[in-house]
Amino acid sequence: MTSLQTGLYNNHSLVSRSLKAAILRIALVAISAGAVSYFVNRHSIEQAAREQLLLSTQQTLQRESLPFREIQQLQRNFLQEFQQTLADAQQYQQLVTDFDKLFYRHEDGSYTQRPGLFEGQPLADGRRFANMSATYAPDIPPDADTKARFTLSYLLSYKYGSSVKGRLFNFYGVVPEKGFPIYQDADIAKVFTYSGPEALKLESYEFYARGFAATTSDSIFTRMYFDFSNNAWMTTIATPDQPDANGQHHILACVDVLLDELMKRTAQPTIKGTYSTIFQADEAGTLIFHPTYTEAIQNSEGAASITSLHLQTLMPVLAASHQLQPGQVTLVESAGEIVALGQIPDTPWVLSVHYPEQLARPAILQNLIIVIALGLITLLVEIFIIRSILLKQVAVPLRHLAQAMRAMGSSANKVESERLPNQTDDEIGALAKEFINMAKRVRDSHQQLETKVQQRTAELEAANRQLQAISTTDELTGLANRRLFDEVLERECARAQRESSDLALLMIDVDWFKKYNDHYGHQAGDACLRRVAQVLSLHCRRAGDLLARYGGEEFVLISPATDLLQAGKYAESLAQAIASELLPHHASPFGHVTVSIGAAAIRPVGSASEEMLIMEADQAMYRAKHNGRNGVAIGKKIA
Ligand code: GH3
Ligand code: MG
Ligand code: MG
Repeated sequence: MTSLQTGLYNNHSLVSRSLKAAILRIALVAISAGAVSYFVNRHSIEQAAREQLLLSTQQTLQRESLPFREIQQLQRNFLQEFQQTLADAQQYQQLVTDFDKLFYRHEDGSYTQRPGLFEGQPLADGRRFANMSATYAPDIPPDADTKARFTLSYLLSYKYGSSVKGRLFNFYGVVPEKGFPIYQDADIAKVFTYSGPEALKLESYEFYARGFAATTSDSIFTRMYFDFSNNAWMTTIATPDQPDANGQHHILACVDVLLDELMKRTAQPTIKGTYSTIFQADEAGTLIFHPTYTEAIQNSEGAASITSLHLQTLMPVLAASHQLQPGQVTLVESAGEIVALGQIPDTPWVLSVHYPEQLARPAILQNLIIVIALGLITLLVEIFIIRSILLKQVAVPLRHLAQAMRAMGSSANKVESERLPNQTDDEIGALAKEFINMAKRVRDSHQQLETKVQQRTAELEAANRQLQAISTTDELTGLANRRLFDEVLERECARAQRESSDLALLMIDVDWFKKYNDHYGHQAGDACLRRVAQVLSLHCRRAGDLLARYGGEEFVLISPATDLLQAGKYAESLAQAIASELLPHHASPFGHVTVSIGAAAIRPVGSASEEMLIMEADQAMYRAKHNGRNGVAIGKKIA
């Protein structure tokens, strides 16, 4: 940063003030925008999460219902075909006959499939029933009707069971007389061993007890059970035929369903961070799957429920589950979770998908960060714009303008207009232009003024010089005048006093000068005086001497360091000099111009010394007149 810029900031200049205002403004905008966006986004993100949850749960419900729908469809087809075949008298007869071809009677009156059939050996007529086993308990000896139904169930169980081989588990059609023909998947058969008809206590199985007790032909799902021989969780879906006039069922179509895959899928919900449960929509909320309670469910042999495990967070979900329509998804919000729940169509089960509300938080924060980042970017851009506009176009031009004004104020220098703002399109440019014009006018008038002052000064100096000359010089003779004489006398007196030296004064008066004027005229008198002054000047050449015109035709000579004796001799020489000039003066008894001189000297001691010296010289001069003129008289020695 240049010193100019630093200066501008330090001085709380336009730029820094504007920047501070910009920072404040944008901070406020960013904070308010952030707050608004936080609430708006929070709402919309949570809304989006709800919708996503709803949709994915609906899809899951549909997907999970598919095998169950297929099973029940198979069972209905089974039952329909069962009904139709039995109604046909010819086929009925064939079935009764087939009974003995297919089954082998044990001694206790029970039946199983003939040996080799399960393993796939053909009958005499070539039919094969691989993986089909059958048991008929000895409780009720089979009559023709029982034989027909048992045989038909064997044939159809094989037909339907083998048609879904590898996809579904056991398929079997049970007759209430405890006849149990079953199609078993080959893999399962490996671990299946028939341990005799006494093992076949069908009445102790839930599917048998509930299936034949049902008053309608609706499918029933048994409680989930763990099949130890297969090491798998299962349920049995059993669909009875329409009850007859006595309310009796004659066949029960059953499928054992492995729940492992369903549980695996449920343990890994589509939306990350969520978890799912499956429970039965009964009073207690019997659990099929809960990711954290699999062990409790297993230990209870599928009896554990929301109620028995006291799962408080699932209570509102259980309550809501009783109002559900199959396939319909409802959202319940409880304990920081959004829960989507719906009944899996064609099952008595409810799937609940739990979405922790905090899952939406990163997205909300991300939005907030974006808003704040946008605010910061705006701030940077604005700072840049303000800096460049204010600094380049306002502050720097104004600073230059101010410098130019200062420069103009301190000296009359020419304004350096190339450094001044040259914008043509704004107020500062206009200001600079006006300033340049004004500076030019000021400079011009300044120069005019200066020229005038120089002229006047020169004139004044000349006048002063003249005045000075006038004031110390005698106009007529060019000698020092009376004023200068007074000054010099005072000065010399003081010096003589300081140096304890002598100071002499000669008072020189032209003789008979009135007569000269009268005789030669005043102008000639003036010329004569000039001549006398000239001659005196020529003859008083001692250093420090001052010859002055005292007034009229009287002259004085101050001679420092001159005692009375020397003064007398000096006076003599001057009087002699004038006389020797022989300037014609017919009105004088001498015939030429002469002077009388009074000489006095003093060694000054006090302030009165000047007057005393003048008086003494004056009196001596009068004495010289009195003595006949053209001579010298010496003053008394002044004590
Ligand atoms: P004394 O010998 O006694 O000095 O006689 P005097 O005539 O010189 O003295 P007085 O004082 O009577 O006369 C002085 C004369 O000097 C009178 C005056 O006209 C003349 N005078 C004084 N100043 C000037 C001057 O500047 N120019 C001319 N031409 N005459 C002057
Ligand atoms: Mg006189
Ligand atoms: Mg005179």
